[in-house]
Amino acid sequence: MTEHITARDDARDLSAFVAGLPKAELHVHHVGSASPRIVSELAANHRDSRVPTDPEALADYFTFTDFAHFIDVYLSVVDLIRTPEDVRLLTYEVARDMARQQVRYAELTITPWSSTRRGIDERAFMDAIEDARKAAEKELGVVLRWCFDIPGEAGLEAAEETMRLATDDRLRPEGLVSFGLGGPEIGVPRPQFKPYFDRARAAGLRSVPHAGETTGPETVWDALNHLGAERIGHGTSSARDPRLLAHLAEHGIALEVCPTSNIATRAVRTLDEHPVKEFVAAGVTVTVNSDDPPMFGTDLNTEYAVTARLLGLDERGVAELAKNAVNASFLASAEKAELAAEIDTYAAAWLAL
Ligand SMILES: [Zn+2]
Repeated sequence: MTEHITARDDARDLSAFVAGLPKAELHVHHVGSASPRIVSELAANHRDSRVPTDPEALADYFTFTDFAHFIDVYLSVVDLIRTPEDVRLLTYEVARDMARQQVRYAELTITPWSSTRRGIDERAFMDAIEDARKAAEKELGVVLRWCFDIPGEAGLEAAEETMRLATDDRLRPEGLVSFGLGGPEIGVPRPQFKPYFDRARAAGLRSVPHAGETTGPETVWDALNHLGAERIGHGTSSARDPRLLAHLAEHGIALEVCPTSNIATRAVRTLDEHPVKEFVAAGVTVTVNSDDPPMFGTDLNTEYAVTARLLGLDERGVAELAKNAVNASFLASAEKAELAAEIDTYAAAWLAL
């Protein structure tokens, strides 16, 4: 009985520790971060939308019955992003939700093609995200950087367009640091995107494709060999290839692990079967991320708690996990050192209590 109570208290302490811990997030999507609160604000501006505005009805709307329902809701949120003002509101409000979780730095994955093809002027789109970025940094203390990603399911035309938006000097936003690839993996081979990644990398962008989420380790190899991946989005199936794990460890290629997302999309059957333990055992750098948090009923703090449980970590271990994300980020080294020091100071103060 005593043991049981202690374990429960430990879990509660760890949640409180995580809640106050300064954090960086490397794998989180723009539209996928629209919480019911944000969606209700957007829906209120577009009364013709089928998305409910009342918070209670919206909570029901966000309760997914299956994956097809999730996609349906996701697309109805995409439909609410119609003007540059919507883009700005979404971006700034996502940063507000991050600030509440003590996220200091985030590389937010944006799919500009989804907006520009729907008629939002490309210049106005860039201005909207940049305006939100600057305001979020000044007013909320959240530093945002962008990853522009290719929606893999949309084909090479979308790839070309995403690459153009990311590399055209007249458009490229100041906060853009990386180039990604999302969407389904099955039937969407990674090598076909090599020319676009080559051009993005030549323009100084870092390569961070999703790979090995719903297909095997060969997709991760493709991302490394053809797209020059410097981190891997998910990389879940890497655990099935010891040679790949050794390669990731040796080259310091971090995995952007999103445990709850992997369960929601059935990339992994149950949390206890999540391969994060194998990654750590093989010496691979693991970072914790939330992917599409409100859509998967989670947030970054919950993902830290889940990962801490899977890895059996205490506060010190969780602080190291938070520093992994800082070190694997595309911050400059002085900024990395500053954020890592803030994490250390926080952990030391907590443990001294
Ligand atoms: Zn993702």
